[in-house]
Amino acid sequence: MRSQCPDCGKLYPVTKKQLRAPKTQVYCTQCKKKFIVAEILVEKTAKTAEANAFNQKKK
Ligand SMILES: [Zn+2]
Repeated sequence: MRSQCPDCGKLYPVTKKQLRAPKTQVYCTQCKKKFIVAEILVEKTAKTAEANAFNQKKK
């Protein structure tokens, strides 16, 4: 399981510990954006287009 930065699309590995704490936030090292990892989960083989669609639904 991975999480994706909503700003620049960089992927980060997500640990089980982070999933158990739904409000865990991380800073993207690439664009410095802060985001909640549990809100943006990406399957190993998921297409980024699906992740983007998910992000657009959320407001
Ligand atoms: Zn980023």
